[in-house]
Amino acid sequence: MKIGILGAMREEITPILQLIGEYETVEHGKNIYYLAKYSNHELVIAYSKIGKVFASMTATTMIEKFGVEAILFSGVAGAINPRLKIGDLIFATKLAQHDLDITAFGHPYGYVPEGAVFVETDKRLNQIADEVARKSGMRIGRGVIATGDQFIADPERKKWIRETFQADAIEMEGASVGVVCDSFNIPFFVLRAISDSADGNAGEDFDSFLDKSARISGYFIMDMVEAIED
Ligand code: SAH
Repeated sequence: MKIGILGAMREEITPILQLIGEYETVEHGKNIYYLAKYSNHELVIAYSKIGKVFASMTATTMIEKFGVEAILFSGVAGAINPRLKIGDLIFATKLAQHDLDITAFGHPYGYVPEGAVFVETDKRLNQIADEVARKSGMRIGRGVIATGDQFIADPERKKWIRETFQADAIEMEGASVGVVCDSFNIPFFVLRAISDSADGNAGEDFDSFLDKSARISGYFIMDMVEAIED
């Protein structure tokens, strides 16, 4: 199978590239795509740069130019659910764009006509994640992830996002990748390891834990790649 592995920041794909060791590179649209073979699969790996626009573009390119048949997102996120601690893994069952707002017309937050508030991830890939976690004795959570073009470091905004979308974690790319994959009928999976708690300390925590949490997420994604059958 041809699988796209997407991160937002260089740090999120570095552990994956180190694990793979050998790859070719292709430059396209001011991004670098790393092509490799791993465990009977062809991989297309890239980091998009931060935010919904870059992530949408990179996901689209993976599908339209490179022909990937599934996309796995690997990265870090802020915790919104108080049960999630730094280093914990969570995958999205569904995602919403918390900064999409045409409520002036009576629509709910996160909704535009012909769209939907939530985009759902692929059940089969989510099941594989649960199986991989069980076999390796790792804990993984599942929940709602909210996406927007804002780094959340504010208890008030965090509370609003939790109440409005019942979100468990917050980041800046997942829902946009989901919308792209859903439009092209490509199964997708969004994994995040917690780097901060989206509160007043979020900036400092993020800087301290980015590398470690990115590695936790990246290694888990590669275990999943091994578990995916052709
Ligand atoms: N320190 C970086 C900026 C990081 S932005 C720099 O200066 O370049 C945060 C990134 O991690 C985004 O890709 C987002 O998806 C994720 N993320 C982690 N914690 C987050 C939070 N509290 N709010 C929003 N996104 C968060």
